[in-house]
Amino acid sequence: MLSFNPEKVSLPAGHYIDGQHKHTQGALFAVKRPSDGKVYASLSEATAVDVDGAVTCAHRALISSGWRNCPPRERGKVLRRWADLIESDLLLAQLEALGSTRPISDVVQHEIPFTAEAIRFYAECADKYSGDLFPTKESSLGMLIAEPYGVIAAITPWNFPLSMASWKCGPALAAGNAVVLKPSELTPFSTVRMAELAVQAGLPAGILNIVQGSGAVTGSALVTHPLVRKVSFTGSTITGARIMSDAAQHGMKPVTLELGGKSPQLVFEDAGDIDVLAQRIFRGFTANGGQACVAGTRLIVQRGIAQPLLERLVALCQQPRPGVTWQGDSCYAPLIDDRQGKKVASVIAAAKKEGAEVLVGGERFAGTEDGWFWQPTLLCDVAPDNPAVQEEIFGPVLTVQEFDDEDEGLQLASHETYGLCAGVHTQSLSRAMRAMRAIESGTVWINRYGRSGDFIIPTGGFLGSGIGKDLGRQAFQACQRHKSVLIDF
Ligand code: ADP
Repeated sequence: MLSFNPEKVSLPAGHYIDGQHKHTQGALFAVKRPSDGKVYASLSEATAVDVDGAVTCAHRALISSGWRNCPPRERGKVLRRWADLIESDLLLAQLEALGSTRPISDVVQHEIPFTAEAIRFYAECADKYSGDLFPTKESSLGMLIAEPYGVIAAITPWNFPLSMASWKCGPALAAGNAVVLKPSELTPFSTVRMAELAVQAGLPAGILNIVQGSGAVTGSALVTHPLVRKVSFTGSTITGARIMSDAAQHGMKPVTLELGGKSPQLVFEDAGDIDVLAQRIFRGFTANGGQACVAGTRLIVQRGIAQPLLERLVALCQQPRPGVTWQGDSCYAPLIDDRQGKKVASVIAAAKKEGAEVLVGGERFAGTEDGWFWQPTLLCDVAPDNPAVQEEIFGPVLTVQEFDDEDEGLQLASHETYGLCAGVHTQSLSRAMRAMRAIESGTVWINRYGRSGDFIIPTGGFLGSGIGKDLGRQAFQACQRHKSVLIDF
């Protein structure tokens, strides 16, 4: 049975630096369980001095441990052992379910295997991508040498703490870098456990350090540290812009930014089996309580199919039941905290004021006042400038817009702020290809919604949804810099 007692989970202490837990003197911050809002721990924030200790340690470890220059296949072996430990560690799964919005069943069935496989994918990349050779005159040789950056700063959000850590650490470590990672202050513990397992797997101490604290203090000290050579971030667009600016002003560091989204689900009348379609759309905006940057939150549906599709969606929206994340049979995620709950409520109120009609949901589940379990919500009668269409809500809220012809549908699908993902649902190959070309977004899913286990396919946004790619060989290569060499002989 997957259920566990949240009071009995032993929490790893504080920061994790040089293979050891560290307590520091920074301000204490409280950590709450999303399921019931209870404070279950407090941690001291890493100050700029603590961050300096973590980065300096990583910098030294790169040289002293040989990680940077060891045969890449050796790095791959360590990463594969790490993935195996991640998959078999019950404490890791419980820490993730306790502190994040993911029910334990979801963590065990999806988050943990997904995290482990992402690391295995990068273990395979370790010795696959190097540099290049160039034709020059006969008595010389031109080369492009790929080398690691050094210390990479990784900053992750609260919605998928483990897999986000794997997306950042997998490519960076496989390429021979060291990482200092700051998880979200809302979900600090599972990432520390993940780092402990890395050291157990043979990663030299100091090559992966974890610092805890807020973005304003710990995060910004990390981004601006002079020994940090690159920043990889997943989070909101506004914070991404801040980080890009900080990175530019403190050493012109390259950034990979995976940011917000407001992704369309463009449904044509010839979309095929309507029950399958309804399930797909429903999962696309309710998975993890809608708290995913890739959530498909704007339904743009051709008029002829709108009525039957909405009937099915309303029925699906009435099915979920809230349940705390440490109960084995829970499958519907709470919102992360009060602030997020209030944000969802306020955007829905603003949307209604601008004419939106709530077709189903629109409120917190009755009886869950200690946590924030939000009902799946459909909003109709929304104009393109309605706040619910414009803003990323990060809750289980789907806006519904209808269209008559393809051009109108494509026009509604594009968004002026975001371009992360899009779902296109049609049995016509030509129409699907036209839509794929027209939509300005980093990913287009056709007749599906969501990633597969094909880590070779990169992910990343256009417009305000980000810069660069996570996953794929692109993420590995983005953790290497390239040195041009010309030899005369
Ligand atoms: P949210 O507000 O939804 O938590 P953020 O984008 O603000 O999303 O947070 C994502 C991550 O970025 C968190 O780990 C957070 O602490 C961190 N963060 C926030 N502000 C900054 C900043 N100025 N510099 C570095 N990291 C930051």
